[in-house]
Amino acid sequence: MHIEAMTASDIAWQEQALCAQTGTDFFFPEPGSSVREAKRICGLCESRSACLEYALDNDERFGVWGGLSEKERLHLRRTEGGR
Ligand code: SF4
Repeated sequence: MHIEAMTASDIAWQEQALCAQTGTDFFFPEPGSSVREAKRICGLCESRSACLEYALDNDERFGVWGGLSEKERLHLRRTEGGR
């Protein structure tokens, strides 16, 4: 995404993002390793729904966003009718 295309609300949720405080290592695990810790942090994050929406809108393919792994987001897209 280009910076100039970001709205204030795009940026606001990132300021509340818990992963910005914990570091992003948990959120981009090596293939096959656990995403449990990332999901636990997402579960406590106030930005979770905005984060998930952002990831779906921007077709983020890697890592945990909004508490969902890449496979889970793919599944969500399919069940939602290919957003
Ligand atoms: S929901 Fe998870 S990935 Fe998204 S901002 Fe919060 S902690 Fe980060």
